[in-house]
Amino acid sequence: MQVAAAKAFIGRMWDEEVIPELTRYIRIPNKSPAFDPDWAEHGYMDAATAQFAAWASKAITGIDGAALDVVRLEGRTPVILIEIPGEADDDVLLYGHLDKQPEMTGWSEGLGPWIPVLKDGRLYGRGGADDGYAMFGALSAILALKAQGVRHARCRILIEACEESGSYDLPAYVDHLAPRLGRPSLVVCLDSGCANYDQLWLTTSLRGMAGGALKVEVLTEGVHSGDASGIVPSSFRILRSLISRVEDEASGELRLPELSVQVPPGRIAEAKAAAAALGSAVWDKFPFVSGMRPMGDEPAELILNRTWRPTLSITGLEGAPEIQSAGNVLRPATAAKLSFRLPPTLDADKAGALIKQTLEAKPPYGAHVSFTLEQSASGWDAPPLAPWLRASIDRASEAAFGRPAALMGEGGSIPFMGMLGEKFPDAQFVITGVLGPHSNAHGPNEFLHVDMGKGVTLAVAQVLADHAAR
Ligand SMILES: [Zn+2]
Repeated sequence: MQVAAAKAFIGRMWDEEVIPELTRYIRIPNKSPAFDPDWAEHGYMDAATAQFAAWASKAITGIDGAALDVVRLEGRTPVILIEIPGEADDDVLLYGHLDKQPEMTGWSEGLGPWIPVLKDGRLYGRGGADDGYAMFGALSAILALKAQGVRHARCRILIEACEESGSYDLPAYVDHLAPRLGRPSLVVCLDSGCANYDQLWLTTSLRGMAGGALKVEVLTEGVHSGDASGIVPSSFRILRSLISRVEDEASGELRLPELSVQVPPGRIAEAKAAAAALGSAVWDKFPFVSGMRPMGDEPAELILNRTWRPTLSITGLEGAPEIQSAGNVLRPATAAKLSFRLPPTLDADKAGALIKQTLEAKPPYGAHVSFTLEQSASGWDAPPLAPWLRASIDRASEAAFGRPAALMGEGGSIPFMGMLGEKFPDAQFVITGVLGPHSNAHGPNEFLHVDMGKGVTLAVAQVLADHAAR
């Protein structure tokens, strides 16, 4: 691959087509079904799917034998499948998603989830970076190779619309489309993160997740807290004590030994190398209030906390009024949404069952306690890197950024990677992305770092070329 020509091609694609398309896409509030149960009636998911399909159909006209299908199984979110023939007799699967996280509060003045703003090389708005750019990046990379006549394998680009809900629709599509997906020897996933914007970051593991709603009921209606406190146990206190069964509230460590795994020595070494490269950037990227410190001061330990250790976040609370309208009432119930991140190699279903059993056992004072599990998803640990790919990611990173690639686990989850790892145990994985410092996917002020997007696209082109030539 001629790097300069590919870089120019990809830069032009991004500036003239990808950015304008993503700008339109950010305006569509196509939240993932978990956050918009009426997604089908609302029609936003269909609008985003139609927009993506229209652009990609146009982009592949002129490629002999290329095809695009919007596939819809009854009652499920749609997927887009793009098939591009290749010169090498081998299969590559490139994956991304177009559904979005919900709005979240705290967006800065002038910004908002459905308001695209291009400023200082960043395209702000929900879904541009997570993960709208993936289809455009993947296809641009392939087109850059076509433009130079560089050989690549058969490519399938699969874009789903259920990822932020745990990809529960995807297994049915993978079965349905199995004959058309081939047996990929390389999987490219553009839905992950980067620890800086200066090089290509390869994700070597992903955490799994389990979670659900924990509800504690103590009364059939609220009562005067002066009258009842001391006699009626507080639902909040019971909730607190139940959570302490699974989490040490002082350290944040999870108390159930079954939720931890032995971290492989290679991954510990990798975390140390990443820590040496990143230093305080491991925590600086978070918008701490002044005087606030991270959970430890060893960067490598913090990286392992984030990538290989189980953690709990309380992501939602119910049963209490806003503070300004809170009277002196002993409330009847308190509920919290518990979101557990799990080590990459842990069975998430078993972990979820254990958590449920622990929380529901012997409720204090006979309170009504229920933990309603949501869909859980196991994590993923990369197979050993093949020598050709190890060399290729450095070549790709040098081409795009002038620096070698870096490797690190990610703290987030991409449920499909676990499924694919099981289905195609011999495949190599390139999991990378543009979710770097401050890009804030899922939070306010999410942005797509445009140069990182171009760099990742060029890197994918290089890896596809190396894959066919290996
Ligand atoms: Zn994503």
